[in-house]
Formats: sequence, C-alpha cells, structure tokens
Amino acid sequence: MSDITDLLDLLPVYYSRLFPFADYHRWLSYGNASYFSKREFSFTLSDDLYIRYQSFSDQKGLSDEIKRLLPHKIDIGAVYSAQPKDQKRGANFQPVERELVFDIDMTDYDEVRTCCKGADICGKCWKFMSLACKILDSALRLDFGYVHILWVFSGRRGIHCWVCDSAARNLSGQVRAAVAEYLQIIGGGEFMKKKVYLTGDKIHHSIKRALDIIDPVFIEMCVKEQNMLGTEEAIERFLPILPNDEDKQEMKVLFGKESTSEARWNVFVQYVESKRTGGERKWYLYRHLVEEVKLQYSYPRLDINVSKGLNHLLKSPFCVHPKTGKICIPFNASAVDKFDPDKVPTIMTLIEEINVYDVKDKAEEETYDLNKKRIKDYKKTSLNKSLHVFQEFLRHLEAERREQRLKGKLTADSMEF
Ligand SMILES: [Zn+2]
Repeated sequence: MSDITDLLDLLPVYYSRLFPFADYHRWLSYGNASYFSKREFSFTLSDDLYIRYQSFSDQKGLSDEIKRLLPHKIDIGAVYSAQPKDQKRGANFQPVERELVFDIDMTDYDEVRTCCKGADICGKCWKFMSLACKILDSALRLDFGYVHILWVFSGRRGIHCWVCDSAARNLSGQVRAAVAEYLQIIGGGEFMKKKVYLTGDKIHHSIKRALDIIDPVFIEMCVKEQNMLGTEEAIERFLPILPNDEDKQEMKVLFGKESTSEARWNVFVQYVESKRTGGERKWYLYRHLVEEVKLQYSYPRLDINVSKGLNHLLKSPFCVHPKTGKICIPFNASAVDKFDPDKVPTIMTLIEEINVYDVKDKAEEETYDLNKKRIKDYKKTSLNKSLHVFQEFLRHLEAERREQRLKGKLTADSMEF
C-alpha cells in the first residue's frame, strides 16, 4: 500500500464489515467477562499517535471505540489487576496474566539468508519461518504440554505465536524468561562467530527433535538455495565457526578445490567425521559440530524479550499491516509449508471481494427474486479460511472449559457425601 489515505478510506469498511469482533471477544474473555475488561489494548492512530492502557467492559465497547478511532494498528497487552483505563491505576496496578507469546522476524535471519535482506521476503526465505513454526510448535506441545497455540502472520515478514493455555497465561515473568531461554539456543550477538554449543555426549531430546525437523530440508534449503558455502563471502562467514586456526586453514584449502556449496558441505561433513573418529586429541570439539552448524544456520531466531515480559505488547491478530495492507491472519502450524505470504488477503482485495459479491448477489436477486438469507460479510471473502482456523482454535478452548466445569461440578457433588 503506497498511500496512507487509502487505508483511511478502507478501515471504516474493514472494521464495520470484516473485523471478527464477536470471535475476538470470545477469545480474549476466556469465558469470563471481567477477565476481558482488565485487558490492555493499545492503538496506533493515523497521525502516529499512540494510546496505551485502553480497556473495555464488553465487545460493544471495544468495537464502538475501534470503529470510532480507526486504529492503524491494534496491540494486545496483559490482563491487569484492575481495569487499565481507570485513571486511578494506583500502586497495586500490575500485570497479572498474559498469553505466552513469541515473535519471529525475518530480519533476524539476515546473517543466514542470502536471497533477501531487511524487510524483503520471498518463498525461499519464508522456509525459515516455516521451520521456526514447526520447531517451536512441537517444543511447546511436547516439552511443555501446551495445546492452545495460535499462530498468526505478522503482516509483513514474520510470525507470532500465542500460547493461550491457562497454565501459560499464569506464568510468572521469571518462568517465562526460563521458557524463552530454553527455546533460545542461538547465542550471542552479531559479533559472536559460533552461536550454538551442544555439550555432553547426548544431544538434548528437544534439540534432537528440532534436528529431525531440520534434517530433511537442510541441504535443499540452506546448502543449495541459500548457497551457504557458495561464495567467497559465505565461506569467510563460515570458517570462524571452526574450533581452531588449523581447521580454518585446512577447510579453506579443501573448499577451494570444490566449486559448489553442496560439494563444500560434503567435504566439511567428511572432515568433521575424520576428526571425530581419527584419534584426534580434542575429538570432543567435533562431536556435535555438524549439528551445531545446522542449528546455527536454521534454528528459530526468537526475540525473547517479547516472550519474557508480561506487559510486552504484541500486534493483534486481524490487524491490518499499515505498510502492506495485509491482514495478520491466523494459520495452522500443520499447514505452514503451504502458507504463502504473497497470497495473504489485503484490506484492498477483501473489500473488492465484498463488492464483487454484493453486485453479483444483487443482480441474482433482481433476476430470480430469491428470498436469500443474509450471509456474513467475511464469508464473501478470502478471509473466510483464516476465520475457520481461528474458530477451530476457539472451539478447542471452549471444549476444555466445559470439561473443566463438568469436572469441578462432579468433584463438588462428590464432596457433599
Ligand atoms: Zn528471500
């Protein structure tokens, strides 16, 4: 989207006809109206005015205000000890609950992707997002037992993960930090050459699982498509990962004899193997070196500060990205390979779809005089699929709540004896 005035023309239609307020409220109230009313929302308005600590007692309050203010961006914050909009927030005002969230942004992959830089993304580098989603989703489910996980496209070049299980929402800041650090295995900043260290004889089962997800795609994606050893520059970036200067010299000579990234990778793997098993005194330096390199070049880069803080704001699902016009749509982790960021509906295409539908519908009505039932606007558009993903997620949350209520009732009944 080039002109911001377009957005101002389209947002009233989007918020009044397409934004799924009812489902959105269903989600954020988690079956409890007072829970919803203590949630912080923040809005970014057209003149870059940023307003925090908004809160609403019900769905209507939220939707009326959004339709009035037409925010360019909506962020969701924590659930507080009191309603955030209360002016007398006082000393006891503090965040008490919050989904455990993860933010993965393509720009953090600039040192390992060669196809694009900065804000740009393409199908090749999107594969990093796809890997990140699968690795994180399986770790959250299998290592932590979470089940209510909502994945959302961030609107431009990344993905957000919302873990909505009650146990996750109740985590303290300290435990959140521990979870985030457990999942953050890429260490150091841009000046750190070797970023992954696996210690001990056996690789931790969670990292082993990540490697099982990485292995089938690594050669195609990193070695070939990203050409990780294909250029002088790429080799210069790679060599400092090696344990010592001798290795660096030797590898450089060996790489020089090959001409493709794949051939060089094979030479590297053979070299490490010979060091591991060839009676080398410091064999342990090479024990997990191939795996460490694979992880360094493909494991999820997390912005863990977003996950650590209870009161960190994160862009809301179904927001419109103000630069691209794309909708921040939920998607299924199991279908992430098919997710194409170029095909994400934009506010422009959605409104066009409604108009096309309505024109056709009107013509049919006039021709056949049908007494048709009104259908919801989003069903006329390509937003429909994402709404299904969201509603499916909500159904699972609600089914669990029903089950828990039933269990609670049964326990209460049996106590009466
Ligand atoms: Zn790319």
